[in-house]
Amino acid sequence: MTEFRCRRHPTEDRLPLVRPPFKGDLGERIHVEICADCWKEWLTHQTVLMNHYGLDPRQRKARDFLYEQLRAVLFDEGEPASVDTSKQGSIDW
Ligand SMILES: [Zn+2]
Repeated sequence: MTEFRCRRHPTEDRLPLVRPPFKGDLGERIHVEICADCWKEWLTHQTVLMNHYGLDPRQRKARDFLYEQLRAVLFDEGEPASVDTSKQGSIDW
C-alpha cells in the first residue's frame, strides 16, 4: 500500500479519495493532495457558500467562484471569501 499524505494534515495518516472528484487538472490534484475528510469538509463549505451567495452552479461565473474558493480553502492559494451567515452575501461579478 502506498502511503498517502494529505497536504492539510502532513503528519497524519489519512484516507485518500477513491477517485478524482471531477475531471481535469484540479480534480487530479485534489485526488493526489487532499484526503477524503478534507474533501467532505469542502463539500459542506461549498454548500454554505452556494446558499450564502445564492450561487447557481450551472452558471460559469458561479463555478469559477467555487473553484477559486476551493483553491483558497484546500490549497491556501488566494483569499477565502468570508461567510457572514447573519446576512445575505453578494459577489461582484
Ligand atoms: Zn486532509
